[in-house]
Amino acid sequence: MSEHVSDRTPVATPSRPATTVVRTVADVRAAADALRAEGSGVALVPTMGALHDGHLELVRRAARDGHAPIVSIFVNPTQFAAGEDLSSYPRREARDVDLAGTAGARAVFAPDVDEVYPEGFATTVSVAGPAEGLEGASRPTHFAGVATVVAKLLLMVRPDRVVFGQKDAQQVAVIRRMMRDLHLDDIEFVVVPTVRERDGLAMSSRNAYLSDTERQVALALSRGLADAADRATAGERDGRTLEDAAMETMRSVAGVEPEYAALVDPDTFQRVPTLVGPATLCVAARVGPARLIDNAVIPIN
Ligand code: AMP
Repeated sequence: MSEHVSDRTPVATPSRPATTVVRTVADVRAAADALRAEGSGVALVPTMGALHDGHLELVRRAARDGHAPIVSIFVNPTQFAAGEDLSSYPRREARDVDLAGTAGARAVFAPDVDEVYPEGFATTVSVAGPAEGLEGASRPTHFAGVATVVAKLLLMVRPDRVVFGQKDAQQVAVIRRMMRDLHLDDIEFVVVPTVRERDGLAMSSRNAYLSDTERQVALALSRGLADAADRATAGERDGRTLEDAAMETMRSVAGVEPEYAALVDPDTFQRVPTLVGPATLCVAARVGPARLIDNAVIPIN
């Protein structure tokens, strides 16, 4: 898979301890035990690598909260369907290890596919409920892959807390439900707000697929969300009207193929017909070679 750095000597500087790279379940458990022996809890930050400032904010948050961050980097094949971007997904492990360390990661867990899915692997975690609409409808096998790998990572690392990004709002709902249903909820679940570029574009590893022009076009997603949020702030309560506002903004930009705009309950991911409580507006669109998602928590004033 990605470039390997297992034989690199971890680099420690006077200002930060070394970041250890481990590749096996036994070694990540030993690393977690060693970190706990130093007196701190362990926070797992699951990623697929190609780290950007959004990922690093998760790591910084874990460290700020006094936990020792372990970042997992694993491009999980089971969450990609045939024809999706598994083979082209950016892999930059050596750079990721440096970035993670700078943000405060104490260990990077970068297993090979065979370590996670050994020969004869036959168990899948499948979540219904919040996994059913939106991304679950567009990518029918995606959330079973996500839930399976996250359940496995939690059982492999056994962290005290796990940190996710609001950028993937439906994933947050699915994992939260999975952890509750499988009695993994003694692991604290932390969600970090979406980190954006200065112009509003949500940071994403898939932004690497965009040309400069497509990157400008991709701003249609965050603008659509902002337009809908403005309408809600101005008093609009009708879910469909808010969804239409986001779709209209996205459609008005040449080069954007909007897939959906949906106002949903943040836990159940059921559609919210009228804004009376917490709601998240989720959008998905194709821009050039990339399929992008974004969301905004819609204010109710
Ligand atoms: P990924 O590598 O895309 O699987 O993402 C790993 C974690 O980073 C997930 O919890 C994502 O939600 C989170 N993440 C990705 N992009 C951002 C962002 N722009 N802001 C905050 N968290 C993010």
